[in-house]
Amino acid sequence: MTVKAYEKPDAPELRISHMEPHTGLLGPGDRFVIWVHGCCFDCPGCLAHNTRFGAYETFDTDTLCERIVESRCDGLTLSGGEPFLQAAALRQLIDAVRDRRKMDVIVYSGFTLAELSAEDRFAPLLEVTDILIDGRYVRELDDGRPYIGSSNQVVHYLNPDCRPAGEAYYTTGGHRRAEIHFTPTQAVLIGVPSPATLAVWQQIKQKSEGTHHDF
Ligand code: SF4
Repeated sequence: MTVKAYEKPDAPELRISHMEPHTGLLGPGDRFVIWVHGCCFDCPGCLAHNTRFGAYETFDTDTLCERIVESRCDGLTLSGGEPFLQAAALRQLIDAVRDRRKMDVIVYSGFTLAELSAEDRFAPLLEVTDILIDGRYVRELDDGRPYIGSSNQVVHYLNPDCRPAGEAYYTTGGHRRAEIHFTPTQAVLIGVPSPATLAVWQQIKQKSEGTHHDF
């Protein structure tokens, strides 16, 4: 597994590849999902191509906080890209949101919990994470579990209060779910797709003359 030095360490502004309010993917309940930009890993088979090499927008805490609070979603999910590369800025955002609204926080990270616990720079985000799904994506260990990429990845219930809803969501079995969202200018794939959904998505990309994004 290749781990690259990331050229833009934590910055006061957040670099965001995409955000999606009101989705039932990537956690229990009605969720506001943010895909941060930039990753220090290079997992073969990574589907989040756009979060690593695509365009991104920068946001200040207040603007992003307003959007999240106004959505009235139950929870916030951070994916990427690698959220912990922006740990301090995301902590600032979560604190601002929680000053105004109760929201649980789920983080999908390529780092393992042991790696995150070993470095102080990750603590600001780890301290406020309720559920962590950790570890690199390993294509050979992709076992088709819903909502999780490969069998080495572990769901950690860091806040015991979030365990019942989390366990109900992550251990119910069933099949993978992903959504393809269309706007006038782009198509966006979100979630952890099944092979069938991925095949449809590849066809859309081949035929598309417009913009398409994998998140
Ligand atoms: S699968 Fe996740 S951790 Fe791995 S390169 Fe892609 S975004 Fe980074």
